[in-house]
Amino acid sequence: MTILPDLSDLVIEQVSITNEVTVTVRAASPTASCPCCGTISKRIQSRYTRTLRDLPAGGHPVHLVVHVRRFFCQQSTCVRKIFAERFPSLTLPRMKFTLRLQEALRELGFALGGEAGARLGKQLSIPGSPDTLLRLVKRVELPVASSPRVVGLDDWSWKRRLRYGTLICDLESRKPIDVLPDRSVETVSAWFENHPSVEIVSRDRSSEYAAAIKKGAPQALQVADLWHIGKNLAESVSTLLALCRAEIRRGLHVQAIPEQKREKAEPVLEEKRRPARSRSVALAREGRRAQKLDRYTQVVELHHRGFRAADIASHVGIGERTVHRWVAHGSFPEARPRRRRPSLIDPYTRYVLSRWQEGYQNGSQLYKELTAQGYKGSPKAMYNYLATLRTPQSDTAQSIPLKPRRRKSVPSSPVPLENFSAQRATWLFLCHPEKLDEMQQEELALIRQASPSAETAYDLAQAFMQMIREQTGQQLDTWLSEVETSHLPELESFAKGIQQDKAAVFAGFTLPWSQGPVEGHVNRLKLLKRSMYGRAKLPLLRARVLACWPRRSQLAQLSWLDSDAPARRGGARRSNRCGNRKSMMGAIDPRWEDIS
Ligand SMILES: [Zn+2]
Repeated sequence: MTILPDLSDLVIEQVSITNEVTVTVRAASPTASCPCCGTISKRIQSRYTRTLRDLPAGGHPVHLVVHVRRFFCQQSTCVRKIFAERFPSLTLPRMKFTLRLQEALRELGFALGGEAGARLGKQLSIPGSPDTLLRLVKRVELPVASSPRVVGLDDWSWKRRLRYGTLICDLESRKPIDVLPDRSVETVSAWFENHPSVEIVSRDRSSEYAAAIKKGAPQALQVADLWHIGKNLAESVSTLLALCRAEIRRGLHVQAIPEQKREKAEPVLEEKRRPARSRSVALAREGRRAQKLDRYTQVVELHHRGFRAADIASHVGIGERTVHRWVAHGSFPEARPRRRRPSLIDPYTRYVLSRWQEGYQNGSQLYKELTAQGYKGSPKAMYNYLATLRTPQSDTAQSIPLKPRRRKSVPSSPVPLENFSAQRATWLFLCHPEKLDEMQQEELALIRQASPSAETAYDLAQAFMQMIREQTGQQLDTWLSEVETSHLPELESFAKGIQQDKAAVFAGFTLPWSQGPVEGHVNRLKLLKRSMYGRAKLPLLRARVLACWPRRSQLAQLSWLDSDAPARRGGARRSNRCGNRKSMMGAIDPRWEDIS
């Protein structure tokens, strides 16, 4: 019977149908048992009526008016002297809904959250306030991970760049099993200590997670995710190509010129810039600057020869407004340094700078001097500042007097590699050669021919991508030693990172586990977080992330909700969605579909 709820212990006294349906019921049994001591009683003390809301019938609200009796407890020692009879198959004490309406409201809460769920509920004639929906959601008992063996973890941001949480998935069942409030070593390692069954952990390249896993689950084998490794390689190749831009363009015009040495920036005292966090970040910064500098040189040269801005823009592969801006600027526009947050070191920078220029460059000595002067900050803040004094920066681009003679038009046929972009070329470098069309193959061949560094990098990048595609980690050592002899600092820096994390990278190459399901669930978590305008606190967010999976037993009772609930709600459809590594890569960046 789906029109009315389970009324087997009740007697229907009256049904009235107007704009809404009202069903009056009472208990069939003349007795009731005390909820405290269980003694059966038949001595009635008083009566009252309770009104319960039920699921709508044909869009009309349904109310159950229940005649409830109060009984005397006949057990003299019982603390309850009087009790009201209960209807466990219908509702809970003090609840204003029937159980099945409550379940429907909870489903709305899980699917849509408080406000949106309440709005839809009203449309469907199952109204419940946003607070009610969320209360029902939070009351659900969350599943306890039963001894997971293979897990994957990843971070997600509460607030970008400031606060991150951690999501943990069981990779065998592809289900999320926990959401942690942060990604610190303490929190994550504590989780692993509580789950000693873990044997394999898949993670990204984060050193923080590596340390946490080592501390909390020293028995577990760490697996570095191949997608992240590939991404790191792409970044290194992109930096290298950006640095080679001038060389590639020159190489195209004058094939006879031998390989030109890359211009090394002169170190200058520069305290505006934030220090780079790592060598690879510094290299990437340098690469971006080199590409921009080469484009700038190109623009100035064309402008000097009298070409129009629109033609210059299409020739160089940048926007017309950028051309105007650069020409008006008169000298190479350095990237504006990112605003630095105020630091305790600020009042002492002048002193440190003067000491530095005098030649006192010993960090610990300087720290002692500063603390003697009242500096309250950490040594790290001071070392960060010192790093800015060491960072080489240059202003090699001279301002060039611009006197356009007469306007001419650049030949409209596109000149190969004049509008070279490192980002686009990176994709050509990493993609499977068979997947490139004729034009792309030609462009790639030109780049490789123009620059010996690019040629070396191409061979190395393809060899690495092949290891990823075919999961052949056995060649990793050979590859690393080839990079050592390549004299390409960008790839050396990448190889150094691999070397430091070699066991996990090797496991990534040889084992079938990947971050795919975790990334899929992180996407889901972000969607849930944003659907609540980022205001949900951890318990609610956690409930909505974790509870999508295990409520099958509760759902199975709700035949009206979903007749084939287990099959449709199960992991099959969902696990396909965030399934194998290839489709995960494709979901994040469609270009991976071609590369893998
Ligand atoms: Zn009792």
